[in-house]
Amino acid sequence: MVAINSSLPRRQFDAVVVGAGGAGMRCSLQLAQAGLKVAVLSKVFPTRSHTVAAQGGIGASLGNMSEDNWYWHMYDTIKGSDWLGDQDAIEFMCRQAPEAVYELEHFGMPFDRNADGTIYQRPFGGHTANFGEKPVQRACAAADRTGHALLHTLYQRNVAAKTHFFVEWMALDLIRNDAGDVLGVTALEMETGDIYILEAKKTILATGGAGRIWAASTNAFINTGDGLGMAARAGICLQDMEFWQFHPTGVAGAGVLITEGVRGEGGILLNKDGERFMERYAPTLKDLAPRDFVSRSMDQEIKEGRGCGPDGNYVVLKLDHLGADVINKRLPSIREIAIKFGNVDPIKEPIPVVPTIHYQMGGIPANYHGQVVTWENGEEKVVNGLYAIGECAAVSVHGANRLGTNSLLDLVIFGRAAGNHIVDSHPEKQREHQPLAKESVEASLARVNALETRTSGEKVQDVANSIRVSMQQHCGVFRTLKLLNEGVGQIDELAEQVKRISFKDKSKVFNTARVEALEVENMIEVARATIKSAANRTESRGAHALNDHPERDDENWLKHTLWHSSDGRLEYKPVHMKPLTVESFPPKARTF
Ligand SMILES: Cc1cc2nc3c(=O)[nH]c(=O)nc-3n(C[C@H](O)[C@H](O)[C@H](O)COP(=O)(O)OP(=O)(O)OC[C@H]3O[C@@H](n4cnc5c(N)ncnc54)[C@H](O)[C@@H]3O)c2cc1C
Repeated sequence: MVAINSSLPRRQFDAVVVGAGGAGMRCSLQLAQAGLKVAVLSKVFPTRSHTVAAQGGIGASLGNMSEDNWYWHMYDTIKGSDWLGDQDAIEFMCRQAPEAVYELEHFGMPFDRNADGTIYQRPFGGHTANFGEKPVQRACAAADRTGHALLHTLYQRNVAAKTHFFVEWMALDLIRNDAGDVLGVTALEMETGDIYILEAKKTILATGGAGRIWAASTNAFINTGDGLGMAARAGICLQDMEFWQFHPTGVAGAGVLITEGVRGEGGILLNKDGERFMERYAPTLKDLAPRDFVSRSMDQEIKEGRGCGPDGNYVVLKLDHLGADVINKRLPSIREIAIKFGNVDPIKEPIPVVPTIHYQMGGIPANYHGQVVTWENGEEKVVNGLYAIGECAAVSVHGANRLGTNSLLDLVIFGRAAGNHIVDSHPEKQREHQPLAKESVEASLARVNALETRTSGEKVQDVANSIRVSMQQHCGVFRTLKLLNEGVGQIDELAEQVKRISFKDKSKVFNTARVEALEVENMIEVARATIKSAANRTESRGAHALNDHPERDDENWLKHTLWHSSDGRLEYKPVHMKPLTVESFPPKARTF
């Protein structure tokens, strides 16, 4: 048990970055290179963060394969987001994308090359030339291991820049004073179970997604939404949590991802009759329509009895016509995944696939400098000292549905932007470390201690599994108000169970069990936010497809959802429709 007093070990940094994925390490690099004292915390070794699993590519209008420009990329991103994306942030991202990719190239990232030495680019869902006219090759790729190449490059750069890594350290809670300023985090050294106070002039949340609140997910086991839980407990609202992306091609039964890059290279989806059904749903983009669109079409095929296999519960992804050479050169890991997890060699047979939860569009509300913003009396208000970047943040460039390759881009653009913003505000001159907010630290310790002292209650794994099963059943590709409202009841009940989690035999508690219990306390915040926000949005937009209200309703719902943990309250704020320098793209029908 941890004593509640201020004698806990304390360390001081200019900046503490929670998370060593692409976002966290792009930000820390900017800070360390500027001479700031930076700590990066990660639950796993940095290069095992989920970014390492990204396969298909990073989007930028380099125009290496055919004509392209950032304005088309901006339009595609807004349309992909079903107009819920903030157009200022989207302009900021798409416009800087080519430069950010060249910067990665100069850092040493090993992209695939064209014969003329330029970066190889492949087509991806929803990326088009000339405002939707035809697919364009915009995804800059390193085979089907783009995230691996990106993350290793950033790690090496950070080592050179002398970033301090705290490996296998879990951030527990934000430390916030009465004025609402964030002063750092409490953190658990996972090996020893010791708790530390890490004081920071600036704290950056880069904890990635929370796809593990579903039973079938393409996400790593560590993706439990810790940053979202930390923000929610510290009184910061969560934005647009009803919007979760189902990736069309998870390996049926296993959940492991088959990149959209397979369809980019020419792979096609077939139903049991061997029909290329996407031609019916999206005549122009076909298999390369955005993910929400393809996932719904697949679900429809399966529901209408055209699914494959003995139970008719999946469709297949055919790529044998690409030939062994292309598959081995451009998609080697996909072949390996299909053999290991789907029991098929895609050089000869199609891969069984189903829509699988993949990405959270919502998160901690942030502006395009990465600063966390709350909503007070009809205005956005910056939370002093706190930034959120990467998948845990809602900037919001993805709105109601993210385009493939735009996440890796989001990581480097906003990781760097947050770094620049912090450097420009000279934290060391701005203020010394503020007096520690003792009450905030005590609340965090009390939370850990409660886990240790409870003598009876629920088992961690049982509660975690129930959350996953409930989300899977109630919050799928197609939603109904009945299912969602049932889900709200179940998740509320599970939130009570989370408060009663205890370890039966205290002498046999491993730190891994402690970590899991602390993760479940974060997962439940994400699940509550998600199901409640979804049950309240009575329209269909992007990834939120509600059978009871199948149409998008711009008159009433062109707005961001904000959810507050303390009382489960929902409120709404307008979408930023005005870009930084160009004309706004007004909403229109979304066909492909
Ligand atoms: C299989 C797969 C393939 C993908 N392919 C693509 C693609 O081709 N193109 C694309 O654009 N996007 C892709 N995506 C999405 C994209 O990879 C992710 O959105 C992105 O990598 C998330 O990066 P991040 O830096 O926000 O977080 P992550 O890379 O998930 O890193 C999170 C970090 O936070 C740390 N952390 C979490 N909680 C704590 C805590 N409490 N204390 C300390 N540390 C903590 C973790 O240890 C980790 O270091 C893919 C995603 C998946 C799952």
